[in-house]
Amino acid sequence: MNNFCSACGSAITPDARFCPGCGVTVVRVAATATRQLFRPLYDRRIGGVCAAMSRAWGWDIGLLRILTVLCGIFLFPLTEICYIACWIGIPEEIPAPPVL
Ligand SMILES: [Zn+2]
Repeated sequence: MNNFCSACGSAITPDARFCPGCGVTVVRVAATATRQLFRPLYDRRIGGVCAAMSRAWGWDIGLLRILTVLCGIFLFPLTEICYIACWIGIPEEIPAPPVL
């Protein structure tokens, strides 16, 4: 996916910090990590928050779920509040269009 300079319209590589055309500092619209976060439709247990994070960050989903459960017990109710916030905040995966 290419970004374009807001000043001159040159194509900017995703990791570039300055525009190759006019040298203006590239302003990032949003963190790329949050854009990748979505809750998959099938590989989920409660809200799909663990599945979304493991997919986006490459973490082991089993380990992530164990950590979530342990935190849920020891940090009650902080983890539950964070989980629900993520549940609301992370968009759901867009399902494939139904076959007619
Ligand atoms: Zn430019």
